[in-house]
Amino acid sequence: MFISTRGDSTKITASEAILYGIAKDSGLYVIDNMPHLDMPLENLVMLDYKNMAYEILKLFLDDFSKEEIVDCIDKAYDSKFDDERIAPLVKFSDYYFLELFHGKTLAFKDMALSILPHLMRVAKNKQDLKKEIIILVATSGDTGKAALEGFRDVDGIKVIVFYPINGVSNIQKLQMQTQEGKNTFAIGIEGNFDDAQTEVKKIFNDEGFNKELDKKGYVFSSANSINIGRLIPQIVYYFYAYASMVKDKYIDIYEKINITVPTGNFGNILAAYIAKKMGLPVNKLICASNSNKVLYDFFRSKVYDKDRDFVTTMSPSMDILVSSNLERLLFMISQDAKKTKLFMEELYKTGKYEFDFDLSEFYGEFADEKETLDSIKKVFELGYLIDTHTAVAVSAYDKYVKKTNDLTKNLIVSTASPYKFPEDVLSAILSLNKSYENYEAIKALSDVSKTNIPNNIKDIFDKEVFHKAICKTYEMKQCIKDIVLEI
Ligand SMILES: *Cc1c(COP(=O)(O)O)cnc(C)c1O
Repeated sequence: MFISTRGDSTKITASEAILYGIAKDSGLYVIDNMPHLDMPLENLVMLDYKNMAYEILKLFLDDFSKEEIVDCIDKAYDSKFDDERIAPLVKFSDYYFLELFHGKTLAFKDMALSILPHLMRVAKNKQDLKKEIIILVATSGDTGKAALEGFRDVDGIKVIVFYPINGVSNIQKLQMQTQEGKNTFAIGIEGNFDDAQTEVKKIFNDEGFNKELDKKGYVFSSANSINIGRLIPQIVYYFYAYASMVKDKYIDIYEKINITVPTGNFGNILAAYIAKKMGLPVNKLICASNSNKVLYDFFRSKVYDKDRDFVTTMSPSMDILVSSNLERLLFMISQDAKKTKLFMEELYKTGKYEFDFDLSEFYGEFADEKETLDSIKKVFELGYLIDTHTAVAVSAYDKYVKKTNDLTKNLIVSTASPYKFPEDVLSAILSLNKSYENYEAIKALSDVSKTNIPNNIKDIFDKEVFHKAICKTYEMKQCIKDIVLEI
């Protein structure tokens, strides 16, 4: 069963939590009793991705039948992925990379957003919800496209994505603007991701607006990682990565590993933390930030302080100052909803709070822009091409080892294909000062690195742009009204 992080103790089922996205008291849903694997690790590591997904998901999806879960998994992890392992592990030097970008939109968001639409469809039937669902998404670049693609042409659901018009990469922007599907809407906003996320949360909690839509037969839900339906599928690949390390004989079974995660909204690393709580042998979780290093400061000082300049970096999906899922961590560690609520109120009012609990399972590090480029070059010289986000993780991990001498084997979560950020990746690996644009950059990257251009972006520059709308943050609500009323 699921409860809110802010004290509303009504226990609800998985299908309700997935359907409603956010609790009535503005808290996030968390599982009230952490499940443990009901299969020995020795057996679990032998499973393929789909079977492993079933073993994990069934522990959380309390009101889903076996057939329903298996059906969702089958529909999600199929040939949409261009590698049949779904989440392959590759090793270069002492780096173990978990590649999570083999889905349709070339970023790790596909791992959860391939299955969320199916979970939501089942949940909608289960709750006998007749209303049309409007999925609101604030994106820092990758969630938007993955949600549009995942929910495209799903009956009874519409998806509206808000992205910072000046805060995403060219490819990310084009991926969203060229989205097909009758039920998809992508709107640029003049603001950053935090502005978009704050406004979306406000709209979720706007009672009057919700009532108005309700009368017209609509209800809001979320495909951001505030939705527990996003987090649960992300737990699977941590077990799968561990299994790959065992099968490839990089580690002995039950040997502890460290995991480094390039972090923005704290969803991906929280899934790793949940995996650890479920029994995955993990030592440290290394939280890697870019120049927006709120989390680095937090793990150092226990003070979360968002009051600082927002920096636009070459790892835009991590350009975030208010990491939503940290609220879940505060609750899980403190086990105190009252305090969690207070922290969130302080954050809202003063921009900061101090969390006086043990955070030693985590280690915060960060990489600036130069260090990010240096890491891309360093790893490229080892024979492997990484994107800007993964490079932040590599850099953070290197710093961690230097400072701690901890040589525990470390998994680096590789969150995006380098082809999503071809200009920056090229500038890191080429000493030339020439800058490439558009398709030229993708082509040059392929030539220089001798890797293939992923099929899903091959023709992106030839596609029709359908979504051109731009609005200001305060106009987002009106935008939604226009779309919903027009339908
Ligand atoms: C979303 C994203 C991140 C950050 O993940 P969180 O779950 O928000 O911490 C990192 N890298 C890439 C490529 C992403 O798309």
